[in-house]
Amino acid sequence: MTIQAIINSSIKRLKNEGKLLTPDAYAEVFCKEVKRANMSVEDCTHVTKFTKTLNKEFQKDLKNYRISSMNELTRFLIAKLNRTNSSQATDIIDSQTHLTKRILQVVMELHNKEASELAKSTIEMLEYGARPEQLDDFRQRWVNFLTLYDDTFLEKLKEFGPLDRGNLKKSIEALNITEPALVTSESDLEKISKLLVSSFVPSIASSVNETIAELSEKIRINPLLLESDSIEKEIKQAISLRISLDKESVQEMIGSIDGVLDKLSLRLIDMIEKSDSSNDEIKKIKKELESYTEESTTNFKVAHKKLYTIAIALEENTEILSQDLQNHSTEVSVLSKKIHMLEKELDSAKQESKEDFLTKLYNRRALDDFLAIKDAEYERYGHNYSVVMFDLDKFKNVNDTYGHTAGDGVLSSFAKILKKDCRSVDVVGRYGGEEFLAILSETDSEGGVVFAEKVRKHVKKARFMFKGERINVTVSSGVAERKKHVSMSSTISEADELLYVAKTNGRDRVESKK
Ligand code: GH3
Ligand code: MG
Ligand code: MG
Repeated sequence: MTIQAIINSSIKRLKNEGKLLTPDAYAEVFCKEVKRANMSVEDCTHVTKFTKTLNKEFQKDLKNYRISSMNELTRFLIAKLNRTNSSQATDIIDSQTHLTKRILQVVMELHNKEASELAKSTIEMLEYGARPEQLDDFRQRWVNFLTLYDDTFLEKLKEFGPLDRGNLKKSIEALNITEPALVTSESDLEKISKLLVSSFVPSIASSVNETIAELSEKIRINPLLLESDSIEKEIKQAISLRISLDKESVQEMIGSIDGVLDKLSLRLIDMIEKSDSSNDEIKKIKKELESYTEESTTNFKVAHKKLYTIAIALEENTEILSQDLQNHSTEVSVLSKKIHMLEKELDSAKQESKEDFLTKLYNRRALDDFLAIKDAEYERYGHNYSVVMFDLDKFKNVNDTYGHTAGDGVLSSFAKILKKDCRSVDVVGRYGGEEFLAILSETDSEGGVVFAEKVRKHVKKARFMFKGERINVTVSSGVAERKKHVSMSSTISEADELLYVAKTNGRDRVESKK
């Protein structure tokens, strides 16, 4: 085909399509005809040539916009150039972002959690200046949301009549739900479920039942289950299970109470029979208990009444018994206190038993002990000792003349002289009424006589006073040395005999064997 033929067919085509023969329209149709004729005319390749000189972004845009003529290319480039006016472009972007945010805020208000969250994060992304790849990411997320959005629930509403998807509010209002009581709120169900679960727990039986526990847990976790039909059967089963568990427990309890009552009544009857009491009250209890053992106690009320009667009777009798016990215990405690005191006294008496109560010198028992020790020392080591037996002269007269108290005073005073005159290693004590004994360590009879004389003189000179009156007192003594005897007792005997000699020789004397 020649160029002329293409020109002709181009003009014809323009006329057929009713288009004006403007240069632009002609150029467009001409190039289409060239393409159809499978020819190549340089004028028609201008767009392609220009496009190749542009960067890839532009090339992509040109393709998207399907730009095929120079005219379109010119308009596109002008638009691009206009847009590159930076301040204007920023304004446009700001406005668009603002609008987008508004739309997203509206979306957030819609009753879809996923859309709301996506809208919220999109707004955040826009606020912090989004990068192109972020924008692309969010665009994709919105596409995903729309693709996966499940609106089948709306289909269910159709049951109530025609559904206006464009105005759901109106559609829901049209449902005309007049009985709100039919709709149980979730919190109501929760309350009911708690009540129900607590009513499952057996009030008497203590054992945990797995079936009840499982059902309780199931309802507790999901109260909405109460709306299902199947749960009704399970609840009925749990309730009858609970009742039977309680029944079992009650029977068990009555059984054990019965056993206790049997033992108790038998023991009481036994006790009462053994006691010789003819107390009316006790007879009454006995009768009561006997009648009780004959009766059947399978009935809890009867068992309870009997137990109560026994308890009352026991309480009354126990009171008397405990009063008795209390009285006795007071007596016992008084006695035990006395015993305690006596024990203490005995203890201290034992402590004092070495001391003469009047003169505070050693007593006879102590003197005997010392004599035994001294004698053992003599036997083993040869340590000699002497004994001096003192006896106050005519002491009976003192008592008779001045009284016993005066006599006691003389005895005490004499004891002091004795104590003062002896050495610290010597032992002096009261041997009898007005008899005293001195045990003189490492001393022979001569030494003993010196000591006895010292005492005699001391006594004679002493002023024994009673109620302003002077009492004249003298003392006689007998001295004996252990070495000169075969035993301790013969030594004592000799001192005693010599004392007697002193008496017969006129008193106020010291006697010893030469
Ligand atoms: P003599 O020894 O010189 O021969 O005469 P006597 O009077 O001392 O002898 P006798 O043994 O007959 O009397 C002893 C008296 O000592 C009798 C008794 O009442 C008295 N006597 C003994 N012990 C006590 C005492 O603890 N207190 C008092 N006050 N008198 C006592
Ligand atoms: Mg005497
Ligand atoms: Mg005497």
